[in-house]
Amino acid sequence: MANIVGEEHVLTSPYDLDRYSADALHPFRAYNAASSFDQLAQVVVRPATTDEVSKIVVLANKNKTPLIPYGGGTGVMGGTMPVRGGIIVDLSRMNRVLEVSCTDLTARVEAGVVLADLVAVLAEDGLMPGHDPYSVPIATVAGAISTNGVGYRAAAFGPMGDQVVALGVVLPSGQVLNTRPVPMYSSGPGLNQLFIGSEGAFGIITQATINVFRLPEAQAFATASFDNFDAGFNAAAELLALGIRPTLLDLTEEDDGILLHLLFEGFVEGVAAQEQRSKQVCADFSGRNIGSEPTLAYWRDRHESGENYKRTALGKPRQERWDRTGWRRFDYLHLGLPISKVLEYRKRCDKIMEGRGVRTVEYAIWSRPELFSMLLVCEDRSEAQARDSLGRVVEEVLTLAQDMGGVMEYCHGVGVKLNHLLVREMGVGQDVVRKLKQAIDPSNIMNPGKLGL
Ligand SMILES: Cc1cc2nc3c(=O)[nH]c(=O)nc-3n(C[C@H](O)[C@H](O)[C@H](O)COP(=O)(O)OP(=O)(O)OC[C@H]3O[C@@H](n4cnc5c(N)ncnc54)[C@H](O)[C@@H]3O)c2cc1C
Repeated sequence: MANIVGEEHVLTSPYDLDRYSADALHPFRAYNAASSFDQLAQVVVRPATTDEVSKIVVLANKNKTPLIPYGGGTGVMGGTMPVRGGIIVDLSRMNRVLEVSCTDLTARVEAGVVLADLVAVLAEDGLMPGHDPYSVPIATVAGAISTNGVGYRAAAFGPMGDQVVALGVVLPSGQVLNTRPVPMYSSGPGLNQLFIGSEGAFGIITQATINVFRLPEAQAFATASFDNFDAGFNAAAELLALGIRPTLLDLTEEDDGILLHLLFEGFVEGVAAQEQRSKQVCADFSGRNIGSEPTLAYWRDRHESGENYKRTALGKPRQERWDRTGWRRFDYLHLGLPISKVLEYRKRCDKIMEGRGVRTVEYAIWSRPELFSMLLVCEDRSEAQARDSLGRVVEEVLTLAQDMGGVMEYCHGVGVKLNHLLVREMGVGQDVVRKLKQAIDPSNIMNPGKLGL
């Protein structure tokens, strides 16, 4: 490896192997996948070019050694965990913004560009990315593509995968696949899709061309409060059905109330019209307009958890990271269902939790009514009991989402945590994925043990 990337970019010390061999998945939340923490990588390599990545892949393929792509290491499902040992390929040196086009409204970037750095570079040209997760300060572009992440502006721009125009990918053979930077095509199947949300199982993304957007001419923040979640949910569904497109749509129920946060961005007249009509829609569903301030405050703080993680945990050895991200007895689920099923699903989840010592402290929809999340806690038992109770409840509510026609996760990937449930969700689709994998990666070197492969 040293002759490919240079000696200083080959890391083998126990300290480095430990801190790279995990992401932000806390063992408490790993449940069935706890044994994944037993494995460490044998080596970490830090390539600087696509050519170096290709040479690493060829070498690994020759020796049938697993390769695990690593962006910011901020995934929350264990996607970067070397469950069968092997080589962690840290893309963080590939951090250049190569090209920004105000005409094409695209940016061509290297895989390891941290989202916050992209925000800063684009702002110089009056542009912004469409993907704006909590983890902007710490996550990379290719990590976001590989998990198909969702952010605060997803109501308007969709998940990260929707913003991908073209990719450069080193395949398990070492060949470099480049797709073409046009938004629509009818000349063959779209190969970008193979790598979006695939957690590095089909190749290592080294470059991406993504859509970028003009910084908005105007912004309008609005907040409505509701007496019950169902009313807020129905208001949100009506907004989207009418064709209103807020950039931010977040309905949250916590102990202190139910708030719908809306942000409209774009050209002045469009923003004014959408703001006015949405206030009317909320009122039609008994929502009270409580002004812009709560949403403005929520918007200003939106990257706080990412900043905090960067300050206290990022790049630290595993135990230190786990100690610092402390609050254990909880889990945060993000699942997708047809709009018509969400409210019934919520009621059935409440029933599942009854008498189990587990309760939901936050229900939310984020971006779209189909994207439903719950923050579950188990407070009143020993830590081992809490973990056991939460693990069982989580399994039941996630499989219920599948049984009701939905998906168990909408933005964080499968990683090791949900690996055992993917076959149940994909059915025959899993056979298709397995056959594609066999064709492209016959020795299963690319992030083995993920996506049920
Ligand atoms: C505080 C905090 C807040 C968060 N907020 C959000 C949020 O709002 N929305 C959201 O969607 N997620 C959020 N996350 C989760 C996480 O930030 C995302 O999953 C993010 O997209 C992962 O990016 P990363 O660069 O850290 O990827 P990593 O964790 O390094 O990798 C994620 C997966 O992608 C693969 N991968 C990485 N780079 C490549 C590559 N170049 N080629 C192929 N595969 C690759 C890895 O092997 C792994 O399977 C949050 C996490 C934290 C800690």
